[in-house]
Amino acid sequence: MGYYKKSGFRVRINQTAGPNFLSVQETECNMNDETLQRITRTYGIENWSAGYFGVNNQGNMIARPAANDPRSVDLKTVVDYLQKEKKLQLPILLRFPQVLTNQLKLLSGSYKEAIEQFGYQGKHYPVFPMKVNPRREVVEEFLKDTGRYRVGLECGSKAELYAAIAQDQNHESLLICNGFKDESFCRLALLAVQSGKRVVIVIEKLNELKILLRVCTEANIYPWIGLRAKLYTKGSGKWASSGGDSAKFGLTTSELLECLRLLTENGKKDLLHLLHFHIGSQITDIKRVKNAMKEAARVYAKIHQLGYPVEFLDIGGGLGVDYDGSKTRTESSMNYTVEEFANDVVYTVQTVCEHENVPHPNLVTESGRMMTAYHTVLVTSIREEIETFADDLPEVTIDEDDPQVITEMKWLLDEINGKNYFEYYHDAVEHKDELYTQFNLGMVSLEDRAKGEVLYWEICARALKESEQARNPNEEFEDVKKVLAAKYLCNFSLFRSAPDSWAIGQLFPVVPLHRLQDAKIDFATLVDVTCDSDGKIDKFVDLRDVKETLELPEWKEGNDYFLGIFLIGAYQEVMGSYHNLFGLPNEASIHIESDGRFHVSKIVPGSKIQDMVTFARYDLAGLHSHFQKRLESRVAGGYLDDQLAAALSRQYEEAASWTTYLD
Ligand SMILES: *Cc1c(COP(=O)(O)O)cnc(C)c1O
Repeated sequence: MGYYKKSGFRVRINQTAGPNFLSVQETECNMNDETLQRITRTYGIENWSAGYFGVNNQGNMIARPAANDPRSVDLKTVVDYLQKEKKLQLPILLRFPQVLTNQLKLLSGSYKEAIEQFGYQGKHYPVFPMKVNPRREVVEEFLKDTGRYRVGLECGSKAELYAAIAQDQNHESLLICNGFKDESFCRLALLAVQSGKRVVIVIEKLNELKILLRVCTEANIYPWIGLRAKLYTKGSGKWASSGGDSAKFGLTTSELLECLRLLTENGKKDLLHLLHFHIGSQITDIKRVKNAMKEAARVYAKIHQLGYPVEFLDIGGGLGVDYDGSKTRTESSMNYTVEEFANDVVYTVQTVCEHENVPHPNLVTESGRMMTAYHTVLVTSIREEIETFADDLPEVTIDEDDPQVITEMKWLLDEINGKNYFEYYHDAVEHKDELYTQFNLGMVSLEDRAKGEVLYWEICARALKESEQARNPNEEFEDVKKVLAAKYLCNFSLFRSAPDSWAIGQLFPVVPLHRLQDAKIDFATLVDVTCDSDGKIDKFVDLRDVKETLELPEWKEGNDYFLGIFLIGAYQEVMGSYHNLFGLPNEASIHIESDGRFHVSKIVPGSKIQDMVTFARYDLAGLHSHFQKRLESRVAGGYLDDQLAAALSRQYEEAASWTTYLD
């Protein structure tokens, strides 16, 4: 059973059973296996969670430190604890550092296994690209394992490099400098060299090599040099244009040769240690990876044969995350596993090198999305239902003397059935247009216009119900379904916490953290608290398609529940913006222990109003004194007395420490 809510009346609709719909019988609190399976299917949890998230038998979402780990924690328990004991308000960003570690282990393990299996001669060097999530909590967590996995860092700007320079890294691990470089970037990199780091400056443009050689000669300090090749092979999916002829980055073949010539001419042939490429993030199709590897390995081999000591092949990022769990080449998915990716890389490079008779290079990976996406969840809640009309509308009664367009719509509603619903729905659409035309001509009263609107929505709801019951539901009703769905206002900013959902239509799984066993389901879309009509989520993950509405436990004021937005650990935190001056959410790092226990290893309070006005370049003290002056002039005018003015001034100053989100 499901509900479509609209305009103050509620229409109950029987759903066809199937993986997309939750058709749970009225059940008590303890679920049977069937219910559990249906929930998992509805939200596709087992498809996209990579084993990090699941449902327990109370119908609550759980998180695990690793796939198949017996330890787990109930997310509702965690949020209750943070609210009650730590006084944190929603929205709260939950961070799971163990998930970062385990993704690193998975990546590193996959390469290690492939290297052993194929008898590959090089080693694997994972570097974390700071662009993906530069937060201290993330970078430091990866570097804890720098000894075990030779984890290094990749930076693409001076600010990233600045933070990276002071971090402790294993002596063997790499610090890779990508991105556009000027003289000061190069100087900063030389500081890193002098602090004992293995720095590789990757040349993206011919001119950069000239600048670099000049700065190095002046300082008489020499980092390793890498060259970024522009491959002919493109990635696939959203970021395909990062590769191919028209890519923003990388050296064309003739530029590459010119770089080699410059190095030789300057007697610096020995500095060239690495060949780099990156064909784009979220590669959805494994075929592209194989093609890129074939091409890159050839370029590496040819450079090696020319007598340059290249020994590292840096394959960039691109390893995808299956956000919708469909395991397909669609944009939010991918048609391969991490293991398969690693096997293909190792095998392809090895095959080419043996054919070219050159040593196997060490393999550097710059995977960021795969390493971080799973480790954060934004927790929010529904604040209210956005309704087009008031909740308690009186019933529509049709009088004899109502305009014809109204009486005809009433007739459509009375007569609609399983055979004619499609035709009658189209008639209703026409009648609605007619209603507004007549209204604009002054032929229809406001009351009649209201009656017509209610009748129209009732006909839509009936038609939808018939369509859902039909064997092959009609796609034309997808829009109707969306309009009839509830619209829930949630306490978060999409632009702050999941900007790619708005910017590029990226799908992120959204799941209630509890009450998943509830029999009563609403179909809903979500809107955020910003005053921007783009601040909404109306595309949801689905195994076979993209859902336009999400099934949620019935929401009532005073009987609410937490909602989680999952898989937002890559790119979202850093790309999120302060639209409407909504700030950072509160944040808690959670360590999952045995027997359902957990501990909060770190709390970072979210932005306060004062942080956001300062961000917009207001001076806090200036605001206070201006407000004070306004009050003084009101006192002078006799509108306020001194005491009240002082109280108002205090209130204003106190408000500076409030949260930017709804209380
Ligand atoms: C963005 C970027 C990465 C990270 O890519 P993912 O797909 O997130 O792994 C790696 N290398 C370079 C050069 C990049 O620009």
